[in-house]
Amino acid sequence: MTIRIAKKAFDEMRAHAEATYPEECCGLLVADGKKEILESVKMRNVFSGPRHDRYDIDPLELFRADRSVAARGLRIAAIYHSHPDYPATLSRFDLDHSFTWYSYVVTSVPKGRAGDTRAWLPSDDHRAAVEEEIQVVVG
Ligand SMILES: [Zn+2]
Repeated sequence: MTIRIAKKAFDEMRAHAEATYPEECCGLLVADGKKEILESVKMRNVFSGPRHDRYDIDPLELFRADRSVAARGLRIAAIYHSHPDYPATLSRFDLDHSFTWYSYVVTSVPKGRAGDTRAWLPSDDHRAAVEEEIQVVVG
């Protein structure tokens, strides 16, 4: 599977990852009917403990964003977050807390600079994830 992301949304997501360093950022990637991601939407990381290796999205904030994009004929296709000083793979914690109907896009942020960005689709049993190829769409 390939996940297509408009360059503007891709760049915004990576800038968000750098801006929140050394804490994790999180947000949503919004797609049209053709499964192309057009927009990124920042979410607050509301995890109550140390946020350098955890994130939590407020369910009410997610619900409101979902309703507002649906009203525009769009949908949330993916959830993104960052991994400060850690590879762009899903952690055990990420898998355990994943929704299997979203893709998960992770940006590694070594020393405060956005590095690899990789996309993952969790399996139905939350035990593993399949990598998806990211295609950045320019223009
Ligand atoms: Zn993670």
